[in-house]
Amino acid sequence: MGAMRIDLHAHSAISDGTESPTDVVLAARRAGLDVLGLTDHDTLAGLSEARDTAKAAALDLLGGLELSCHLSGIPVHLLGYGVRDEPGELADELHRIREGRIGRIAEFCARLTALGMPITEAEVSVQAAGASSIGRPHIADVMVAKGYVATRRQAFDEWLADDQPAFVPRYYCPLIQGIALIKQAGGVSVLAHAWGRGSRAVLPESVITELVQVHGLDGIEVDHQDHDEHDRTALRALADRLGVINTGSSDYHGLGKIASELGCNTTTPTAYASVLVLIGRRGGHR
Ligand code: AMP
Ligand code: ZN
Ligand code: FE
Ligand code: FE
Repeated sequence: MGAMRIDLHAHSAISDGTESPTDVVLAARRAGLDVLGLTDHDTLAGLSEARDTAKAAALDLLGGLELSCHLSGIPVHLLGYGVRDEPGELADELHRIREGRIGRIAEFCARLTALGMPITEAEVSVQAAGASSIGRPHIADVMVAKGYVATRRQAFDEWLADDQPAFVPRYYCPLIQGIALIKQAGGVSVLAHAWGRGSRAVLPESVITELVQVHGLDGIEVDHQDHDEHDRTALRALADRLGVINTGSSDYHGLGKIASELGCNTTTPTAYASVLVLIGRRGGHR
């Protein structure tokens, strides 16, 4: 028997991935995974479909989400595993974040139009059909479809990324509150791609240490495409020193979208077992 293969961070078309929850689960099976964490941005809406498919496919599905947080105004992504899907403070916060996502689309369209790339809200909502969380990748896909750019990547690099001319911010949950909300809902919090993209600036080792020791952060995503070998080594050592979980994932968004294949990075069975123990202890959803 080969080793268990565990990928704890992936997106479906319920947020900005390109495949249905069912198709992501089936793709995970084909990729030889034993465990998949489905972590759509700011929504739990894809999990019941994914659980049903996973059961039939004999794949272990870990339900989760990727919460849009900020620290000192800088976006930081926080993975939450095993949270209960029920009315309460986390559900209210997710609603607030999703409303903020919808609210900024008109401004994106206005900016892109002013920049010579006319786009309408209607086109973006057609592109995001079925999504519970709408976002920049949907706008990027419209830009590709209209021939303004060749790929999602180019749309971000030249126009949509946080430091590019068409960028419009939105509401993000304060990070410390996000950690508390996930725990309160029975879940386990893991800093997503801690040193990827912009978040490194606000997450030096001293801050991560405080997030763990004072605010109850449970883990750090270490093996991620946004981290080079040097960062991975340092983050793994930090997680070990702090006694928290370290995870690995593909951050899959669908084939050909944000170049990563299911299972390209994985989580150890030991780390996964620790996640399950915490969820069990907190009364979260397995
Ligand atoms: P939004 O949720 O609308 O703020 O868009 C953020 C999402 O877009 C992230 O979760 C990624 O999936 C993707 N994204 C953000 N920045 C980039 C980037 N520089 N390059 C490619 N994709 C990105
Ligand atoms: Zn995404
Ligand atoms: Fe992320
Ligand atoms: Fe992600």
